[in-house]
Amino acid sequence: MADSFDVIVIGGGPAGYPAAIRAGQNKLSVACIDEWRNRDGSYAFGGTCLNAGCIPSKALLESSELYHRAREEFAVHGIRVGEVGFDVAQMQKRKAGIVKASTQGILALFKASGVTALQGHGTLLPGRRVEFTAADGSTRVLSAKHVILASGSTPVELKVAPFKAPHVVDSWGALDLESVPKRLGVIGAGVIGLELGSVWRRLGAEVTVLEAMPELLGMADQQLAKEAARHFKKQGLDIRLGAKVTGTTLSADAVEVSYQDAKGEHKVTVDRLIVAAGRRPFSAGLLAEGTGVALDERGFIKVDEHCRTGAEGVWAVGDCVRGPMLAHKGKEEGVMVADLIAGLYGEVNYKVIPSVIYTAPEIAWVGLTEEQVKSSGRAYKVGSFPFLASGRARAMEQAQGFAKVIAAQDDDEILGVHIIGPMAGELIAEAVLAMEYSASSEDLQRTIHAHPTLSEALHEAALAADKRAIDSINR
Ligand code: FAD
Ligand code: NAD
Repeated sequence: MADSFDVIVIGGGPAGYPAAIRAGQNKLSVACIDEWRNRDGSYAFGGTCLNAGCIPSKALLESSELYHRAREEFAVHGIRVGEVGFDVAQMQKRKAGIVKASTQGILALFKASGVTALQGHGTLLPGRRVEFTAADGSTRVLSAKHVILASGSTPVELKVAPFKAPHVVDSWGALDLESVPKRLGVIGAGVIGLELGSVWRRLGAEVTVLEAMPELLGMADQQLAKEAARHFKKQGLDIRLGAKVTGTTLSADAVEVSYQDAKGEHKVTVDRLIVAAGRRPFSAGLLAEGTGVALDERGFIKVDEHCRTGAEGVWAVGDCVRGPMLAHKGKEEGVMVADLIAGLYGEVNYKVIPSVIYTAPEIAWVGLTEEQVKSSGRAYKVGSFPFLASGRARAMEQAQGFAKVIAAQDDDEILGVHIIGPMAGELIAEAVLAMEYSASSEDLQRTIHAHPTLSEALHEAALAADKRAIDSINR
């Protein structure tokens, strides 16, 4: 193996591995170092997302939702099945198979684009050199013209609820539960809390979610958040807002969680507790003395808008730098940097990064919320369309939620799109593309949408912004 490369990427998650692949496509010599190890000790590329995040959570969300629909919805369709049951072990086995195929796929992609895969630890030394420590403890110093840091993030551990498997677990532990707890506690009604709370609720757990903030999904459009809260309540998720956890006590097989809200001190006893109180950037053992790479006060690697750190030829991308901790944001940063290194054009449009929460109904948005537009002082108009008026959604027996388009009053530019409903995560892609091209609501209005599709909801919401909706009453 060579000791010197054009590019060395440290971290092989969804920010690092696309950077390595694009560098290879750009005919640069590239190595990607990753130290992720699964519970059986095996190395695997793909980082948090593929091994313990996006992919395994979506596998369990899909299985649990199918079970729920078989139980609750099949009869409405006129489908009779025998007693519907589930097998957690089989769900977990399916999940593990999907994860394995995905992570091994990265090795095949690396091979195809000439990326040298190195499994072990990487430490940046001064002068764009990298110390690589292999599994057997042997070390080598490699050098590169450019180094891309993509070291990711780890779950926040709360002093009041330290991790203690199997009772108090982080999101990875929550994805690996071997049976359904009777009483499940979740700290944090953020994205992870809602997605994983939904999985185990659908399979029968009594789920109590404790959220410190006074409102649900404070980062989302509040009309969307209110609609979501209504559905979660109906599904039996007991979400307690303004509930700040103050302590946990472990007994033989239960966890007593103390929390404080406006009414005073309370206690709730659960069999398992998931701590989903956010993630923090990870850089342990990443930077030797004197590299010139700086961290901010929250531990993020400092970068400019093109992901350059202060050190010449050293870049950083993904969860370890500012911005939303999302796989697709990291991917675009990785690709941008690999293109910039090759002297090509590269840019990330941070204003149009979609967010998706994979609950049922799904929640997705891009751009500004109505609250943000209002506080900006810009005059705006809003159009929304309920899925209840969508023929396709009704045919799917999934006519909950709505699509909402916010556009500027003066030049009609789309400022934000918010969808709660069936396949919202897929539907939002059209809005992202529209906003990427600075489309107006009229552009969406004049775009032909196939009938009957869910995407017509977005079309109709755009029409509704000018009170020209056809399939719902304009208000
Ligand atoms: P990571 O994925 O954390 O990868 C970093 C990699 O670098 C790891 O493999 C780590 O071992 C390695 N590494 C770190 N330091 C070193 C070193 N010194 N030497 C060698 N290797 C090193 N995001 C979405 O967009 N959609 C979702 O649906 C979604 N679902 C999620 C569900 C869960 C339960 C969780 C926890 C997260 C989810 N996320 C989701 C967030 C997403 O996983 C992260 O945003 C994404 O993984 C960040 O990518 P990254 O490459 O920056 O970091
Ligand atoms: P989050 O920031 O989304 O939510 C954490 C929640 O915990 C917040 O609402 C916070 O107020 C609450 N909280 C914090 N401390 C608390 C305490 N002591 N008591 C009660 N509540 C407390 O973080 P997360 O859900 O852990 O997710 C981490 C990251 O992973 C997020 O940035 C998210 O973007 C990413 N992620 C994305 C997806 C997706 O895209 N579908 C899915 C999962 C995770």
